[in-house]
Amino acid sequence: MPNPIFFVDEMLNDLAISLRLCGFVSIYKKWESDDALISEAKEANGFIITSDRALSKQGEKIGVSAILVPVWSGKREKLVFVLKALKINEIYPETICTVCNGTLERAGKDKVVGKVPETVLSAFSEFMLCPSCGRVFWQGSHWKRIKSFLDEVSNLLKE
Ligand SMILES: [Zn+2]
Repeated sequence: MPNPIFFVDEMLNDLAISLRLCGFVSIYKKWESDDALISEAKEANGFIITSDRALSKQGEKIGVSAILVPVWSGKREKLVFVLKALKINEIYPETICTVCNGTLERAGKDKVVGKVPETVLSAFSEFMLCPSCGRVFWQGSHWKRIKSFLDEVSNLLKE
């Protein structure tokens, strides 16, 4: 089964980014209306992610699966809740662009010359490049924090 596509309610911006970090395409934007979100999710055969009970009911009424995320939970709990709801126990870090949902490609120094600062270019030898938006990612100082977050999530999914 291919990975699910998530259509994320505006209130859950953080969750959309977390899902992308884990390698899941997550559409998040300022939706015109609940109907707009629901119909896009239906068209793509995706899942609605929301904390709004009315929205989830409305989606399910026309056959779109919705995952109702508890509002009280934290960032990590929300993410684990969604993945467990779909019985997903594996994540795929560094595969999806956190900015645009593009599919990341591994790139060496030669591919990113001029796209990252010189200091970064000399300090790192592996990069991830998003062909859709052109952004380049590398395992800089922030990566440790992200990596430990992802490790925690990964462990919780196996429980
Ligand atoms: Zn991108």
